Amino acid sequence: MSTPLNRTRPAGPERALPDTQQGMRRRNLSRVMHTVGAEGPLSRAAVASRIGLTRAAVSTLVDELIRSGLLEELGPERPGRVGRPGSALAVSGNGPAGIGAEVGVDHLAVCAVDLRGRVRARAVRHVPNRDRSPEPVLGGLTALIHRVVAEAEGEGLWPAGLAVAVPGLVARDARTVVRAPNLGWLDTDVGDLLPPGLPLTVANEANFGALAELWLGEDTPRDFLHVSAEIGIGAAVVVDGRLLHGNRGFAGELGHVPVWPDGPACACGGRGCLEQYAGEEAVLRAAGMEPGEDRVGLLAGRAEQGDAQVRRALHGAGTALGIALTGAVNLLDPQSVVLGGALSGLAPWLLPSLRSELARRTAGPACPVTVSALGSEGPLLGAAHSVVREVLDDPAAVAGRV
Ligand SMILES: [Zn+2]
Repeated sequence: MSTPLNRTRPAGPERALPDTQQGMRRRNLSRVMHTVGAEGPLSRAAVASRIGLTRAAVSTLVDELIRSGLLEELGPERPGRVGRPGSALAVSGNGPAGIGAEVGVDHLAVCAVDLRGRVRARAVRHVPNRDRSPEPVLGGLTALIHRVVAEAEGEGLWPAGLAVAVPGLVARDARTVVRAPNLGWLDTDVGDLLPPGLPLTVANEANFGALAELWLGEDTPRDFLHVSAEIGIGAAVVVDGRLLHGNRGFAGELGHVPVWPDGPACACGGRGCLEQYAGEEAVLRAAGMEPGEDRVGLLAGRAEQGDAQVRRALHGAGTALGIALTGAVNLLDPQSVVLGGALSGLAPWLLPSLRSELARRTAGPACPVTVSALGSEGPLLGAAHSVVREVLDDPAAVAGRV
């Protein structure tokens, strides 16, 4: 299976399948899946009229998708309509599932999402992963994956692939973590340490967070910047509905954009990076608080109670975010900036200074800044949905494995 986050194998129905009869068939299978997925339940006739193929051609495709367990028939359509009643089609709720996983600095999470986009199984473990070597961390993740897969299989689903969100830079092979500073990992082939047998994609958590926003968010535009944070700050750039990867796949390292060039030294080797002002630990320091388990909850709680030092710290973080985002917004002209991950939980106290700094510094009308409704669930959901999208984009690849 392909790697959906790799620019050379783009995700989406427009992915270049070979321009042969076989390629045409695969493209049409994908069009049927996407149409039924987006608008179903639909009759065969309705699918045919939507994608502009004959009913006979659609029936052949539908039969193949039903045999592979990707579509199911729900029974006769409502009576009283003219002509022979057709059977309503829906994407299968008991076929392939996308397994999404997340390695956080202090948690591990796994979920299974079916083709209808429902989360069917989920497991989370709070565990300090900072500076732990990859073997025990990924051993713990593997145990959670087995648990979630078993639960999903108990519901009649089967895993179509595994996608793992990590807080670090991932090579274009979509399995090697080149650098994850907050875990202390360097050049780690994550694929070697995860369950074999499942098609695997590893990507930066910010990228999966942005894809979740694109696919699941309400009225998300097709050009936006998604900014998220855990300990570090990551961003992802979505241009015309696609992730911008950059030459090495490292695009979006907003956390290391300098805010004050003479500021404190950063782990990246630079000085005065955004992360030094708006990363969770920097904000906790400025707020005079000790790092704890639920950092965002602690900060939000104190800010809500009116703690002046915490509010000042968050105001400062918002200002630093506004300065760093000014460069990105002026350069890329996105339709909006979306705050996701941990930042969304602190938005009420970050947004005023962030917005005013951005408006003051950018040319033209201010770029809207919105808050993700997915919050810190984004990367995990984005990972699982990326597998689901793969199935919809090339159902023939999955059908061949049934
Ligand atoms: Zn840095």
